[in-house]
Amino acid sequence: MRDYPRIVIPPPGPKAQAVVRRDEQWTAGCYIKEYPLVVARGRGTMVEDVDGNRFLDFMAGIAVCSTGYGHPKVVAAVKEAADNFLHICGSDFYYEGMAALCERLARVAPGSSKKRVFLTNSGTEATEGAIKLARHSTRRTAIIAFRGAFHGRTTGAVSLTSSKARQHAGFGPLLPDVHHVPFAYRYRCQFCGDKPDCTRGCIEVIEKDLFARHLDPHDVAAIFVEPIQGEGGYVIPPDGYLRALRDLCDRYGILLVADEVQSGVGRTGKMWACDHEGVEPDILLTAKGLGSGMPIGAIIAKESISTWETGSHGSTFGGNPVCCAAALATLDLVEGGLMENAVRMGARLIAGVRALAERHPCIGDVRGRGLMIGMELVKDRATREPAPELLHDLVMGSFARGLLLLGAGKSTLRLAPPLVVDDYDVDTALEMIGARLGELA
Ligand SMILES: *Cc1c(COP(=O)(O)O)cnc(C)c1O
Repeated sequence: MRDYPRIVIPPPGPKAQAVVRRDEQWTAGCYIKEYPLVVARGRGTMVEDVDGNRFLDFMAGIAVCSTGYGHPKVVAAVKEAADNFLHICGSDFYYEGMAALCERLARVAPGSSKKRVFLTNSGTEATEGAIKLARHSTRRTAIIAFRGAFHGRTTGAVSLTSSKARQHAGFGPLLPDVHHVPFAYRYRCQFCGDKPDCTRGCIEVIEKDLFARHLDPHDVAAIFVEPIQGEGGYVIPPDGYLRALRDLCDRYGILLVADEVQSGVGRTGKMWACDHEGVEPDILLTAKGLGSGMPIGAIIAKESISTWETGSHGSTFGGNPVCCAAALATLDLVEGGLMENAVRMGARLIAGVRALAERHPCIGDVRGRGLMIGMELVKDRATREPAPELLHDLVMGSFARGLLLLGAGKSTLRLAPPLVVDDYDVDTALEMIGARLGELA
């Protein structure tokens, strides 16, 4: 037996409540705050709150804590870098960590062509930079993105985001010349219906409708795509979809930008979700799990399109030396066994979720790659009507008992634990989710 999950006082306990009250008084009202978890420390897949409750974490701070909490190799790398120097500005000066990380990312990116790398502080900053690079490189203005997409929250990135209307409300006008098209959401596809095989209707509509009626493809700089939609509901497009998008881009000289901010760095059992299809994007974006929680992201671009000249883009903090050290240590761990663990544990987890689906009719769809698994909840399997209240009750009920979960899309449970999970963690999470679903039925 392990010492987690272990609830000693119903959360939020008295110490947690004090922090929540203070936070509510002073922090900006835009924060969501999914549930009153007040963290004191973490180790591996365990998170402890300020009242001594211990939780099993199956959300990893939104797929960020890839190596778990406090991995000794990551913490040692961070401490060593911090002891040396905290900052010098990688846009203006040199240090080994930045050169090493850029080389490392260029070498592990999909495809064989030479890459160049720009380091950022976040996912949204990577999206922002990619919009600029795509326009600069093609001298075209239009951008295509997908319904349900999430690319970040700064003004340019949020213009591509299309997951919740609230993220746009009151902030307009947003970036002009951004066009949204349907994503390959098999479970809710408007083109294939219930046909067993994908008809590629959602790709066809880009040419037959958008390009034919609204937009000259030669004005399009880039198509931004999440190879697996994250915030949109852990939506996995059918095999061949990314390749078809790649072909479409090649027909018109459009750049393919893969936003792997959530799906990258080993989470799906390969370094990048693009690797499952052997597709080489022109630009690949990473962030979230890259630094194990330290803020760092990257724009990895083919050298042939990395046309921006000296001084055309930059970042004061991007590629901070302490964050570079965390990212290098993270990549060592991901390549040194965690990617295989994501394959093994992902198989165990998805088999378990499929078994749950046999007992619980509220589970409409189960999909996943590695440790990026979505369990979509519905009111009725025949109508496929989403069940957001049920998702809410499942997440809150699990929190009360010591399991940290998070939803995505309208009513999908996202399972994105740290990549260090083991049999005990997976079986415990499955048992707890099954028990909650049994109660809620
Ligand atoms: C989270 C996310 C972003 C935004 O990253 P931030 O670091 O929150 O700015 C962009 N794209 C995808 C796919 C994401 O999941």
